[in-house]
Amino acid sequence: MVEKICNGGEYLLREIDCREVFTPEDFTDEHKQIAETTEQFVAGEIMPINEEIEAKNFDLVVKKLQECAELGLMMIDAPEEYGGLELDKATSMLVMEKMAFALNFGLTYMCHTGIGMLPLIYYGTAEQKGRYLGKLIRAEMIGAYCLTEPGSGSDALGAKTTAILSKDGTHYILNGTKQFSTNSGFADLFTIFAKVDKVHFSAFLVERSFAGLGLGPEEKKMGLHGSSTRQVILDNVRVPVENVLGEVGKGHKIAFNVLNVGRFKLGALCVGQQKYALAEGARYANERRQFNVPISSFGAIREKLADVTAMTFASEAVVYRLAGMIDNRLATIDRGIDNYYVEYQKGIEEYAAECALIKVFCTESAAGSIDEMLQVHGGYGYMAEYPIEQLYRDERVQRIYEGTNEINRLLIPGLFMRKGIKGNSLDPSLQAAATGDFAAEKQLLKGMKRMYLALADHTVRLFGVGAANEQEILLTLADAAIQIFALESAVLRAEKASVTATEKMQELYRAVSKICTFRAKQQFVDAAEKCAAFIGHDALLESIAAETAYKGSGLLAAKRLIADATSQLEKYIF
Ligand SMILES: Cc1cc2nc3c(=O)[nH]c(=O)nc-3n(C[C@H](O)[C@H](O)[C@H](O)COP(=O)(O)OP(=O)(O)OC[C@H]3O[C@@H](n4cnc5c(N)ncnc54)[C@H](O)[C@@H]3O)c2cc1C
Repeated sequence: MVEKICNGGEYLLREIDCREVFTPEDFTDEHKQIAETTEQFVAGEIMPINEEIEAKNFDLVVKKLQECAELGLMMIDAPEEYGGLELDKATSMLVMEKMAFALNFGLTYMCHTGIGMLPLIYYGTAEQKGRYLGKLIRAEMIGAYCLTEPGSGSDALGAKTTAILSKDGTHYILNGTKQFSTNSGFADLFTIFAKVDKVHFSAFLVERSFAGLGLGPEEKKMGLHGSSTRQVILDNVRVPVENVLGEVGKGHKIAFNVLNVGRFKLGALCVGQQKYALAEGARYANERRQFNVPISSFGAIREKLADVTAMTFASEAVVYRLAGMIDNRLATIDRGIDNYYVEYQKGIEEYAAECALIKVFCTESAAGSIDEMLQVHGGYGYMAEYPIEQLYRDERVQRIYEGTNEINRLLIPGLFMRKGIKGNSLDPSLQAAATGDFAAEKQLLKGMKRMYLALADHTVRLFGVGAANEQEILLTLADAAIQIFALESAVLRAEKASVTATEKMQELYRAVSKICTFRAKQQFVDAAEKCAAFIGHDALLESIAAETAYKGSGLLAAKRLIADATSQLEKYIF
């Protein structure tokens, strides 16, 4: 574990040293062991029954969740006193990544261990945890999370579901409809958000057995056929007051803080999906012959393998870097204090912008990677016989749930502005010339950071608090901030890993970081130019070229090197 604590947004203000970031190359034997257990479980128990899962055999899904629990895979985030292991976020993300190969089962697992269990872990009383957590850890109960309603999705606090205290003060009576609840078809415990007296947004632990709780039919979805998605209908459901989760009127804290971790876990799932897609694409490209040669010998196909490897490398770098940042901060909290989970939540909230940023970057990277690997399959990629077809259908929703990518993008610059991330707090390290092995990449990063701060400062100067309403501009700032974090994570990972790597691996790290850099530069310049044009600042627009003067020499050789290695190994090479 790295020791230095890096605050949320701090990466924009100074040069970060590679020793400050946690990377997949830093995994301990314990991390690797649990990853291997998950891989074996998925390969042996889930992949062979994918068709049955797709056909909605949910009894089988629940049985497999219980087997998964027997292996300890539901214990990772839960506290020890209730039978959990309370392992670090790096472990939690690594298991999530490996679960991606389980396709829909991976989502079911993510929902149960994430938005299903975390509200109780973070906000439950000792009595509530005693009652439910052990059962959730053993998968004797399955969790679901019900925030969305037919009339309120992004506007989650606009919920219409009501909770009225009974005259004798023993129960709340819930009425309303929750929409699109994952796992709802077989869930036993629902975290349901409702407004007490139509005003105070609150969370309730609602058992499936409570009278009046009904379900709509399974939604007919584009993808995720093996995942249950239904309406949860509440018709005078009597919920004991002991089942209020957290404080009445403070449900928004639960809803949003749990979503931070949900977004982060989704990022990890996307890493696994990209590895899956890449392996399928690389193998198919070697098998498929056209014009008497394997299609993997064509530059057009090889470039896709190289680009997807680079996108996966960057996604992996951002996810585990954030895991390290959060783990470092959480490690400073005294486990013995009464309000441990209050402090814990503050620790995670510190990185709310990074969680949103990872959600956007990884879901879009997965979308691009899966699309390109489907293209490698030609017409066969469109056929259900190949896993890439399912990955393609299933992936689409990831840019919609856990907060749409628009909503997540809009959050990012605002959160940074509120943290006081602005040009006048810029560290001198951003003015000094970069040196060393990855100097060109680091020089570009410095220019990108200076440019972001100048654009953000000018936006605030121009619109003041009204900047929050300038959505088109905020989206460009979000894209710029996302590209900086992603590129920096990839480059620092490559630099750190190179220290102990073989010469051959060092070459691959240099090559992958070149591909990431060229790509990030293009996307950053696009966002920054659009931002400068929107705010009508000609001088800033003209300075973009100078601040991002990265040439990318050797790019073609780098792509060929990465493509060769990927094609040879027929999977992700790092
Ligand atoms: C398969 C699936 C599983 C799901 N699982 C769950 C679950 O387990 N629990 C749960 O609670 N929910 C779940 N959801 C719901 C999901 O979180 C919502 O669909 C999502 O938050 C978007 O809400 P919406 O569909 O109402 O879209 P809307 O909010 O109506 O958005 C429509 C469009 O408008 C944009 N938009 C909305 N507001 C703004 C704004 N202020 N500024 C700019 N653009 C805006 C959006 O980005 C989007 O492009 C699931 C959804 C799906 C499809």
